[in-house]
Amino acid sequence: MIKTPGSFYTVADENNIRDFKLAGKLRLEGIKATNPVAVGDYVLIDTENNLILDILPRKNYVLRESANLSKRFHILAANLDLLTLVITFKYPRTSKGFADRILATCEAYSVKPLIIFNKKDLLSPDDYKEINEWTSVYENIGYETLLTSILDDSSIENLKSKLLHKTTLFIGHSGSGKSSLLNKIIPGLHLKTREISKKFEKGKHTTTFAEMFIQPDLKVIDTPGIKEFGMARMKKYEIGDYFPEILKVKTFCKFHNCLHINEPGCSVLNAVSKGEIAQWRYENYLNILESSSYEAWKDE
Ligand code: GDP
Ligand code: ZN
Repeated sequence: MIKTPGSFYTVADENNIRDFKLAGKLRLEGIKATNPVAVGDYVLIDTENNLILDILPRKNYVLRESANLSKRFHILAANLDLLTLVITFKYPRTSKGFADRILATCEAYSVKPLIIFNKKDLLSPDDYKEINEWTSVYENIGYETLLTSILDDSSIENLKSKLLHKTTLFIGHSGSGKSSLLNKIIPGLHLKTREISKKFEKGKHTTTFAEMFIQPDLKVIDTPGIKEFGMARMKKYEIGDYFPEILKVKTFCKFHNCLHINEPGCSVLNAVSKGEIAQWRYENYLNILESSSYEAWKDE
């Protein structure tokens, strides 16, 4: 399934791209999620009646807390090999908190992240210093980072080489340059891009729903610009597992149920005080911990 622009679902096979409706059974099953069929899903279709009969088991998927309906989830996309997080240092500025929520989500759903800092042509020498500090923390944890600009063809080629033979979900704030990057990666795509409103330094919405673009050598999914990323279905004791540097040391905590807040003998706090875990990564961990007040998902 490649997009749901309205009440129907667009499905691509080797030969056709066509719109389908959901069989009644599937509509009923999607109680918890706001969308029972997600972009990237492989589906069983009845071409005579234009119906989606079933969804094939998902390799993985990325969930997000639904913006308007509390306690419900939105499946952003399914069957992913890679998630490209598009960060911009300015116009608009991406916060480390936003980035770390997406990265923790990647860990939670077993999707490999690729972190790209786009609009590198706009960076001053001082900005570079800050970005280098940011990227060195991520690379030490084991994440791959790239600096890109739509004005630098070799950076786009480099990015494209990372996407070959994969299905990649693009996520970032509106205005971070997702559509511009995809237009460069896929010749002839012509996604609409928008001038950034200078006054607010925020992009205006262009993409309104997730959509997959299929090429012979890669598949990419563009998503609407995301302002805040609400994480879904996280148990408090699991959140540390979604920060690789916390996961690495937490087995040495004195208490097995340590949340690494202020417990005695906490190896995570120890690593933070020695500078082995970046202070801001730790603070973002605490923020996610604080916001994960899901009663329904509270630890038994
Ligand atoms: P999206 O909302 O993430 O899809 O962002 P767009 O692709 O619409 O880009 C928003 C604005 O940023 C447009 O005016 C683009 O021309 C501009 N933009 C995108 N990438 C770059 C870049 O690498 N450098 C510069 N200077 N501008 C860029
Ligand atoms: Zn601890």
